[in-house]
Amino acid sequence: MRKLWHLLGVGCLAALMLVSLTACAGKSVAQQDVLTADQKANRITWGVKADTRLFGLEDIKTGRLEGFEIDLAKAMTKEILGPNGKCTFVPVTSGTRVPLLKNGNIDAIMATMTITPEREKQVDFTHSYFDAGQSLLVKKGSPIKSIKDLNKPGEVILGVSGSNSVKNVAKYAPKARVLQLSDYAQAMTALKSKQGDALTTDNGILYGMAAENPNYEVIGGNFTKEPYGIAVNKNQARFRNKLNWALERLEKNGTYNRLLLKWFGHVKGFNYQEMKR
Ligand code: GLU
Repeated sequence: MRKLWHLLGVGCLAALMLVSLTACAGKSVAQQDVLTADQKANRITWGVKADTRLFGLEDIKTGRLEGFEIDLAKAMTKEILGPNGKCTFVPVTSGTRVPLLKNGNIDAIMATMTITPEREKQVDFTHSYFDAGQSLLVKKGSPIKSIKDLNKPGEVILGVSGSNSVKNVAKYAPKARVLQLSDYAQAMTALKSKQGDALTTDNGILYGMAAENPNYEVIGGNFTKEPYGIAVNKNQARFRNKLNWALERLEKNGTYNRLLLKWFGHVKGFNYQEMKR
């Protein structure tokens, strides 16, 4: 008899667990209201870069992420949730950021992501929070002076998969071959080991690489416009509006300019004054 009760108990427990599991699974990412859930949990989960100096980079000594986007995400979190609001940072790459958002692993992407009409079919963006432009990084003394010099058969341009920088190459240097790496740390390693003639992505990211690698320089100016937006899932209008509201407040109260000065004020070749809001 005792055994029977025990079996029944286990059975009920299993049934209960199944019910609660299906209840969770029943609510898809698209149906959950992210702002409400984050306010309840007092936490926003951000997808950020961990391989991109100046924007989001992991300090190998402390294990902490540092950069303009990390600071901006922290400030926005406090604006939205209050001074005790917490953030979780999940490292993303150019290739993993949208799938991670779609799967509900992160609430928002703040990771050097350009607002493009193609991406707007999949995600929603806030207003732009940083105006970048695509450029080139080469070894000092390289004969390459602009994107035009790379538009020849035999030239190899390095980039990162999932970035629209690699797509833009097809437009601006269609004759070159593009070699796609999985993140910017690997792309820089590939440039150093001469697997390509130039590395292409946004100017701010390249300035971060040049600061770390003084034998390399950013050349040719910007050949595209890359406005960065924070991406959220579709059907999260409340969350997106709140992010826009927080961004505007930080722009008005001087926090945005303070962070811009902290990260870009002393970067050689970077026009900090022009970027102020
Ligand atoms: N802004 C470009 C993009 O969104 C390049 C930077 C990146 O790979 O994140 O694709």
